[in-house]
Amino acid sequence: MKILLLEDNLSDAELTTIGLSRLLPNVSIKHASSLSEARVLLDSNIIFDIALLDVNLTDGNGLEILMEIRQKDFQFPVIMLTGAGDEEIAVTALKSGAEDYIVKRTDYIANLPEAIYQAISNFKENISSRAEIIEVLYIEHHAADIDFTLRHLAQHAPFIHISPVMSSDEALRELQLDNPEKYKIILMDYKLPGMDAMELIKTVRQQLKLKIPIIIVTGQGNEELAVQALKLGANDYITKNDNYLIKLPSIIINSYQHYELKERNKAQLESESKYRLLADNAGDIIFTLDMQLNYTYISPAVKTLRGYTPEEAIKQNIVDVLTPSSYLKLSKLMGRLQTNELSANKKECLINAVELEMYRKDKTTIWTEVKASLILDENKNAIGILGVTRDISDRKIISDKLIKLSSAVEQSPSLIEITDTLGNVEYINPKFTEITGYTLDEIVGRNLNILKSGYTSSEEYNNLWETIRSGKEWRGEFQNKRKDGSMYWEQAAISSIKNEDGEITHYLAIKSDITEKKTIFDELIKAKEQAVESDRLKSAFLANMSHEIRTPMNGILGFSSLLSQPGLGKEEQKEYIKLIQVSGARMLNLISEIIDISKIESGMMEISLQEVDINEKVSYIFELLKLDAEEKSIQLSYNSQHFDALYLNTDPEKLYAILTNLVKNAIKYTDEGSVEFGYQIKEDRVEFFVKDTGIGIPVDRHLAIFERFIQVDIANIEARHGAGLGLAIAKAFVNLLGGTIWLESGEGLGSTFYFTLPLNSQKKEVNVTLPIIENVEIKNGTSLLSKLKILIADDDAISRKLISKSVKEFGKEIIEVKNGLEAVESFRANSNFDLILMDVQMPVMNGYEAIKEIRKLNNEIVIITQSAFGLTGDREKAISAGSNDYITKPINKNELELLLNKYFLHLN
Ligand code: ADP
Repeated sequence: MKILLLEDNLSDAELTTIGLSRLLPNVSIKHASSLSEARVLLDSNIIFDIALLDVNLTDGNGLEILMEIRQKDFQFPVIMLTGAGDEEIAVTALKSGAEDYIVKRTDYIANLPEAIYQAISNFKENISSRAEIIEVLYIEHHAADIDFTLRHLAQHAPFIHISPVMSSDEALRELQLDNPEKYKIILMDYKLPGMDAMELIKTVRQQLKLKIPIIIVTGQGNEELAVQALKLGANDYITKNDNYLIKLPSIIINSYQHYELKERNKAQLESESKYRLLADNAGDIIFTLDMQLNYTYISPAVKTLRGYTPEEAIKQNIVDVLTPSSYLKLSKLMGRLQTNELSANKKECLINAVELEMYRKDKTTIWTEVKASLILDENKNAIGILGVTRDISDRKIISDKLIKLSSAVEQSPSLIEITDTLGNVEYINPKFTEITGYTLDEIVGRNLNILKSGYTSSEEYNNLWETIRSGKEWRGEFQNKRKDGSMYWEQAAISSIKNEDGEITHYLAIKSDITEKKTIFDELIKAKEQAVESDRLKSAFLANMSHEIRTPMNGILGFSSLLSQPGLGKEEQKEYIKLIQVSGARMLNLISEIIDISKIESGMMEISLQEVDINEKVSYIFELLKLDAEEKSIQLSYNSQHFDALYLNTDPEKLYAILTNLVKNAIKYTDEGSVEFGYQIKEDRVEFFVKDTGIGIPVDRHLAIFERFIQVDIANIEARHGAGLGLAIAKAFVNLLGGTIWLESGEGLGSTFYFTLPLNSQKKEVNVTLPIIENVEIKNGTSLLSKLKILIADDDAISRKLISKSVKEFGKEIIEVKNGLEAVESFRANSNFDLILMDVQMPVMNGYEAIKEIRKLNNEIVIITQSAFGLTGDREKAISAGSNDYITKPINKNELELLLNKYFLHLN
């Protein structure tokens, strides 16, 4: 702390210095023993914290230094050191801007530190209310009086600054200069040359319209003059008696303070009424509260906003004004203020803008925004709250709507994008991030074309831009690219956002992810196309079927009626019968194909694997179809005789069906040349082939012909009959057996069909003791067999007849029965039968039951089950019931002969 000590008494100075050094920490005292030394110290660069000034000094009065300190605006307090009895000087010092005075009594040094601290702290607080210099215009024509007055005031009231003039004219000139505010007081003698005092007062008041206090100095006994002066507008008077100079400062100060107070009040009133005018006419409620939150003022706008008159409103308690939630909000806010959470300067702006809901007189509520600040007194203590309440209902409605809208946008299941007019992103919602992988931060400012996948053509994009630039909405679909590069489909509606002038400022895109929908849709389209196609195929199939059934039926019925015509020649008869047989066979084939395909379709086609002698199968088929080929003069050959015995664990029925189908097709679609079939062994499989020199199949149909109901050329049905099922069945069978089927062919180049079967038999080499069928001669229906005793069991009379006729040539005795039970009984009665041909479906007892019964009696007898169903599994059932073999009805004579050869050749 740095102290300026002005003291001419050196021992006093020393005592003070020692005392303070002891009592105050870090004190540094600069001592001046005269006014001039003090001035030197003030002019030095030392920044003092306080000055202690003695009053009576050899070269003048300490007040002079006080005045200089204040005039030069030094920012430190001053304590005057006075002698006892100097109270008047002390008062003057205080008025002149000293912070305090200390009377130099014996113990005064001990009181100094306290006084110093107090002075420093007061000085800081009162920095604004510092004592002012009072400028006085003094009109006096006596130079000696002027001199006296100046001297006296300089010593006793240095803050009163006198500017003397010698006449009214001079005074008026002075008052009309640039700075009319300069003088705070006019002090005039009653006796003036030229314009007299009364005139001067009149002029000042009435012409110049100046309101500054005028003090008139009258001679003794001139009280009348004083009264007149007061009437004319003077504020005070002083009589020039002996000690009038002593009273002068206080009169000046009084007038000055009185005037200042009046002015301040007037200004305050003015500003108050200005504010009141403002408050009364403001659309917002202006209010003041005391610190207990009671209203002290509320402006008339309360009527408009809340329906209460200001008189009603002012009585209300704030708890009743606010809705409970708003009251809570406000209380919390105030609570925080009290816990000093807000810093001191923020305290002045108590509530920045808080939204509060208030009750109206009609019990409805109104949303308001309240701003409030503390009202502080001169000591910065809060004495109240001043606030403004604004109706924000409209804003609140809009902002609530905005909140709702924006949360709708944020939570929308659609992707929402807002771009500028160039397509640069300004906003995207969370769904966009979810679908594309781009976050708002990543994509803001970037162009949306980063999503382009290249799928949409540039023409389409041009069309899009043209549409939205013209202010219309564009709708369409995009395939876009996600951040990770994967694709997604979106359906978009893009429109423009316009400003008040109708100019487009942004584009808004609302899109939905239709990837899944699209996939489902594509699948649906495919399914629909398939349905249409299968519908078409079914219609084609039905037309085909109808044709396929009618044609042989026509043949059968037509030729059988021709047969009954009398006088028919033997040759013709034979020809008709042949044609009836061909038609019947064709019909039968169709029926079994339909049964097979429906079983394949319904997934009911079963396979039953067993060891199959492939060579036997191949040569069997050769024997079966040799005649068909011969009839067309086509050479049919097979290659299996060149190989060793080959066994496969496969389904013999299906292998048979596949091979016959392919060979039959080969014969059917070959008009000249040859058909060759057989197999080759390849690593783990057997590759069968059926090769013809026929019409061939165009390459583009190679796959289609394996589909159901497909023929190479549907329009050409007439040419080669067939339902288009054969290859579909063959393919399904091959696949079921674990192989593949394909072909090599070209139009007019002949065809080779291949299929494979897995080489999987345990049985590699067998000593073949089987009948060598190709050695069997079957010529002109005659047989080498011995005649057999045959039992035929069938419930259908026609079938019985047919079978009986078919086997007649092999039989020496044929017995017919109508059901299983009869068969069993008949067998019991005559156990010397050679062969039983047993139907499956019969009343009383079915074929399987009957076979089982017979097997109980005899194991040797050859039983062949004959069935009209031709279903897969029938053979197995028959065999497991105990029959030796199985043949489908109507019985093919060749087949029957082959079978009989198989069982009875040895009898020969
Ligand atoms: P279809 O009963 O009509 O013969 P398939 O399914 O057996 O039915 O054959 C389908 C079609 O494939 C036939 O209609 C025929 O056009 C063609 N096709 C089959 N085999 C041959 C072949 N060996 N030579 C020429 N065309 C063939």
